[in-house]
Amino acid sequence: MTRVFHRQLHADYPVAVEGDGCYILDSTGKRYLDASGGAAVSCLGHSDPAVIEAITAQVRKLPFAHTGFFTNEPMEALAEALTDAAPGPLDHVYFVSGGSEAVEAALKMARQYFLEIGQPSRSRLIARRQSYHGNTLGALAAGGNQWRRAQFEPMLIEVSHVAPCYEYRDRRADETAEQYGARLAAELEAEILRLGPETVAAFIAEPVVGATAGALPPVPGYFRRIREVCDKYGVLLILDEVMCGMGRTGSLFAYEQEGIVPDLVTVAKGLGAGYQPIGAVLVHDRLYDAFRDGTGFFQHGHTYMGHATACAAALAVQHRLSEPGMMAEVQAKGAAVMDALRDRLGDHPHVGDIRGRGLFLGLELVADRVSRQPFDPAKRLHARLKKAALARGLMIYPMGGTIDGRTGDHALLAPPFILSEAQVG
Ligand code: PLP
Repeated sequence: MTRVFHRQLHADYPVAVEGDGCYILDSTGKRYLDASGGAAVSCLGHSDPAVIEAITAQVRKLPFAHTGFFTNEPMEALAEALTDAAPGPLDHVYFVSGGSEAVEAALKMARQYFLEIGQPSRSRLIARRQSYHGNTLGALAAGGNQWRRAQFEPMLIEVSHVAPCYEYRDRRADETAEQYGARLAAELEAEILRLGPETVAAFIAEPVVGATAGALPPVPGYFRRIREVCDKYGVLLILDEVMCGMGRTGSLFAYEQEGIVPDLVTVAKGLGAGYQPIGAVLVHDRLYDAFRDGTGFFQHGHTYMGHATACAAALAVQHRLSEPGMMAEVQAKGAAVMDALRDRLGDHPHVGDIRGRGLFLGLELVADRVSRQPFDPAKRLHARLKKAALARGLMIYPMGGTIDGRTGDHALLAPPFILSEAQVG
């Protein structure tokens, strides 16, 4: 009888004992091909020698020094590596221990920024219905996943939710992709005006939606329109790249492909690549300067922020991700996986859509391809799919339909970037 309070109390979890490249081995010796990187975490597989060496060396030298007393070398070096790589004046980084924490920090930073610049009425947040930003209360309030929110609704702060950019279901036959993107931006503008622009602090969105949608990219131009609307009303744009960042979509940051610069960017998962728990918020100079010239203090902080060993691991991951050709490889392998999926499943009666970017790919599953009717949620297709795949030694990340009660089941693929050609096939 387990003493662990597991995620699922009635599940019978295999015991993971060893990592080997793209595989995880359990205690019976069974091998699982990690085609989802856990949940888009393990971008370098499970046994990268350089990352393991960096962690070992850091633990020997200095495992941890509280950031209330000290800075540390790996944290400073990691901030430099991330900000050098991030296009635009996102020149400062606030470190945390994971994705939900990164989102919490970004939301609070947005609020405090407006206090720093003398606009105390700005505290409201706008997000999208098809989104997941984490399970802590602030991040959960921002997210649109009804299944995750339902029980905690009375504890959540009020956040406005607007439509996601969900071309497969929502683009009208009589509009182009560009017109669709413009319509969505107009909806955001209308919501800002309804709330009163002087009360709105930030709009938060995932550039490529992960857990609630199965790797759903925006239509071209959507984020440029969103940026324009935010600028018009002085609203901050927070991009949540916890899942889609760190090279997952074929560029280190997903926002690079949208031709815009956000005000705050959250990253986690691929940042530590599963070797250490770590997250971060990249901060626009304009915001950092306001804090520096104002109170000089962000009213936040966690014990493990800027953890030296976690930063050393993430720095080694950054070095691997910045190796020449790494992003081109993600793009090429992503295209190969996409081709293989379209080849084998493109005509499948229950595959409605195959989508994604780089090595961040998703299948939307439907009961009927023509009407796009989702499966009955009571069938819990996603859960059965996960179990069936695991039994065959394959890890994929399926989720059920929970957004507006209409999105179908989907399965997310986010394999390690070291995936071989044979593993693609
Ligand atoms: N934001 C996004 C976009 C995510 O996909 C997730 C996790 O899946 C989170 C935030 C929360 O991250 P964590 O589970 O590390 O707290």
